[in-house]
Amino acid sequence: MTALGERIRKAREEATIGVPALAEGLGVHRRTVERWESGEREPSRAKVRVLALLLRKPYEWFYGGCICGANDWIRTDPYDESYPEGAALCGACGREEGAPS
Ligand SMILES: [Zn+2]
Repeated sequence: MTALGERIRKAREEATIGVPALAEGLGVHRRTVERWESGEREPSRAKVRVLALLLRKPYEWFYGGCICGANDWIRTDPYDESYPEGAALCGACGREEGAPS
């Protein structure tokens, strides 16, 4: 499963929207949404823009950005034991997330 697919599924579940309803909102077949979520297919950037609106998440978040909408991760100091390995801080809001790969 791709990171993008995982985020689409997560956002859809958080918005409590079923695959059929989301597919209808996007004007695509439900199987298309299932393929996006499984990573079998990748939605176009234009579709992700619509997804972002329908699911109320920042566009950049779908591509590994922060939930605040920024995509400006600062890797934490690997020698600082107070942060787990691979963690990163958002340069805009300071939120800590797993570092994008
Ligand atoms: Zn942020």
